[in-house]
Amino acid sequence: MAKLHLITYGCQMNEYDSERVAGLLGNLQYDLTDREEDADLILLNTCAIREKAEEKVFSRLGQLRRLKAKNPNLVIGIMGCMAQLQQGAILERAPMVDLVFGSPAIARVGELVERAKRERGPVLETREGPLTKLTGNVPRPDRLKAFVTVMEGCDKFCTFCVVPLTRGRERSHTPESILAEVRGLAEQGYREVTFLGQNVNAYGKDLAPPTDLAALIERVNDVEGVERIRFTTSNPVNLTSRLIRALRDVPKACESLHLPLQSGSDRILARMNRGYTRARYLALIAELKETVPGIALSTDLIVGFPGESEEDFEATVDMVEQVGYDSLFAFRYSPRPRTPAAGFADQVPEADKARRLSRLLEVANRIGAQRNLALVGRVMELLVDGLSKKDPRELSGRTRCNRAVNFDGQGRRLYGELVNVRITQAMPHSLRGTLVPAEAPAPLSSEGPPKEALCGLR
Ligand code: SF4
Repeated sequence: MAKLHLITYGCQMNEYDSERVAGLLGNLQYDLTDREEDADLILLNTCAIREKAEEKVFSRLGQLRRLKAKNPNLVIGIMGCMAQLQQGAILERAPMVDLVFGSPAIARVGELVERAKRERGPVLETREGPLTKLTGNVPRPDRLKAFVTVMEGCDKFCTFCVVPLTRGRERSHTPESILAEVRGLAEQGYREVTFLGQNVNAYGKDLAPPTDLAALIERVNDVEGVERIRFTTSNPVNLTSRLIRALRDVPKACESLHLPLQSGSDRILARMNRGYTRARYLALIAELKETVPGIALSTDLIVGFPGESEEDFEATVDMVEQVGYDSLFAFRYSPRPRTPAAGFADQVPEADKARRLSRLLEVANRIGAQRNLALVGRVMELLVDGLSKKDPRELSGRTRCNRAVNFDGQGRRLYGELVNVRITQAMPHSLRGTLVPAEAPAPLSSEGPPKEALCGLR
């Protein structure tokens, strides 16, 4: 057997793609190895969302150069968003790379690796291609949670984002192909699926006949064995009342939503080409909170977007206070090649970005901690997913609202089980609880407990 070492950067879509690549190459007798020095093939699945992510890849390639010098037969390949966006720079800065291919070419990875071995020169495959549903999984011992790509690409063209350039236009997989994948996962024992798409709540518009994410969630709800359904990443522009009601009404749909805001300033939102205002965003949040009481909300924010004044930044802080996010990801703006915002003249100095970021994180941490504290005393349903990171004698699980909870498992084997715990303590980023002698840690059904109860509102 040949050995494959996979290095994955970036988002869950990349993790998903890496799994598929491992599955496809596994069929061609490539065994995964954790040790890069043992590998015959090293693939770096890359991210281009920020400059820092790209620099990490170049620095890793610099380290891999010595392995290639020792073993000239070693094949090194780059896949993912950087492959699509930076092929020229890759070949210039890392000439020992043998293969560069974008996500549309993943289905042909075996053929491309063979070509790279045969031709002994850089093989480039970064054209647009047809959408292919890849469902091959690498056999994993911890079969519990799986990602399922439901659509790819994005039509939105936010002025800071490379996704429309690297992943192409929005294209949805058919409900039938997704259902087949989920049924296969359920047969293998998976209990939670997360639907992935760069703009996941635009799902189905491009299909004939058109459909939507709410309809997909309803259909996947009927798959026996799968107990929880999540999805990411949503765009406020495509968030419909129908989808919000599905979060309330479909038993297995989890009560949490990641809804990127990016900025709280209308002026900056317009420059970003986000397609909504803060008033519209707040109206959506009000509808979410009213329809799905106890819903957990998270978001993405950019600080220091070109032209962002102190006043614009304070508008973002104000939104964080008003919405009361459970968690958020905040980043300093980083100009990306070929995006309009990279050419904006009024770039913000790095020192201002750093200062704003640390203030924003301070506010977010305070609010997140308050939200956690409010859960003390409540009973929540957990899907047990492993050992506590801090104390391996304890078990750990996630609530439906996606909070991590550590608890004493009382020596029971509970991995993969749904259990109820009473929250006893709130830490900044996790909770502690005690097992509640469960009358009903049973799988959800339409006759099951009301959703507010599952989300800890009792
Ligand atoms: S909606 Fe998201 S993926 Fe699409 S262009 Fe905007 S930031 Fe990028």
